[in-house]
Amino acid sequence: MKVEFHGAVRSVTGSMHVLEAAGSRVLLECGLYQGKRKEAERRNRNLPVDPTKLAGCVLSHAHIDHSGNLPNLVRNGYAGRIHATSGTADLAKALLRDSAYLHERDIEYLNEKRAKQGEPPLEPMYTQADVEETTRRFEVVGYQERFEAAPGVRARFFDAGHILGSAVTVYELEEAGRTVRVGFTGDLGRPAQPILRDPAHIPAVDYLITESTYGNRLHEGVANMKERLREIIGQTAARGGRVVIPAFSVGRTQNIVYFLSELFHEGDLPRVPVFVDSPLAIDATKIYRDHPECYDQETKEAIARGESVFGFDLLRYTRSKDESMALNSFKEACVIVSASGMCEGGRVLHHLKHSVGDADNTILFVGFQAADTLGRRMLEGARTVRIYGKDHPLRARVEKMNGFSAHADRDELSAWIKNVPGLKAVFVVHGEEDASMALAAHLARMKIKAHVPMPGEAVEL
Ligand SMILES: [Zn+2]
Repeated sequence: MKVEFHGAVRSVTGSMHVLEAAGSRVLLECGLYQGKRKEAERRNRNLPVDPTKLAGCVLSHAHIDHSGNLPNLVRNGYAGRIHATSGTADLAKALLRDSAYLHERDIEYLNEKRAKQGEPPLEPMYTQADVEETTRRFEVVGYQERFEAAPGVRARFFDAGHILGSAVTVYELEEAGRTVRVGFTGDLGRPAQPILRDPAHIPAVDYLITESTYGNRLHEGVANMKERLREIIGQTAARGGRVVIPAFSVGRTQNIVYFLSELFHEGDLPRVPVFVDSPLAIDATKIYRDHPECYDQETKEAIARGESVFGFDLLRYTRSKDESMALNSFKEACVIVSASGMCEGGRVLHHLKHSVGDADNTILFVGFQAADTLGRRMLEGARTVRIYGKDHPLRARVEKMNGFSAHADRDELSAWIKNVPGLKAVFVVHGEEDASMALAAHLARMKIKAHVPMPGEAVEL
């Protein structure tokens, strides 16, 4: 029996690992690698595992860095099923369709340029047809239900509290009369976040594969977050400026709407309009509405009292391109929540283009900004930012709130890990190298054996 670490190892995107028992190979995640264009292209097209040799595939949650290369897996001969919770399956369908659309459009643009230079056209990495075939392979499993991921590999999902449908998976590998239990955190959420239940305790495992996105950092408390959000929006509105919040469409946007809704209801904010400008966020919000089985007690009670959790009177969801473009000429104070969260594409780029030059505005980052992204460069104090091939001076204020994070911080992660019974060792993945190393060192101080694998490393269990 063994585990192999193929993606999001000493880095944060392209999650991909393999568990092997009794000759069955099971793929954990099939994420899209995100980074510099050429390298991303190369890594995503060349899968590090042979899809035809896999007996099963399990998906912890729908985020594209965990699910986004599934269509490529199927396109390259994976014949089995993809186990996931119902929330994950629904969100993944929406996210993968969006991803294919972006890829196809990207390739079209590239091919126009190539044609002018007499170069042959490129094929998109995957298409809508590949996505449809992939979504047919989903096999929905409820939380706590035991299922067979492949012969010799049983599994169970537990709440991860990260995004809708997210799960910590506990595997039971059997081979020659021996049983080894392996836990996989996927992405682990923070306790006490809105809408979803907190990360669950899991039963005993021998090994745990854990994420470490914030393995070297501590987040601000949830109480602080509302206060700071109030401050930032209040001050910007007083200047007559707009607050642009680049946010992931799935999870982050719904949490921000939840907090804004509370603040407005409590009368703590000036009555400025709020626009959620992302078709994907609108689709994701609908899926959130469709899955009350994932809500925590507070959210269930709020809904029972007739409160709206996903909207309020000042909030407008803008779906069409025209509505989105109309925001460019909206000159009054407002809040615009738009994707992508790391400013690597999507409608938020248009809003940034129209907002970064004015010192009255605020760009508010509420999520992790990976290396080499536009978001990271803005956070690191760039004086100019390049958007659609043109430089723009950055005069708007740049603020950051990491309390919205959908990821547990170092202490939340290690407290959760400490509660896992029977642990022999922890494998630390899904973090930039220094974050993973820091979490491993922190666990070692807690007398928990931890190892940060190398990309491609295999460990016998
Ligand atoms: Zn995630």
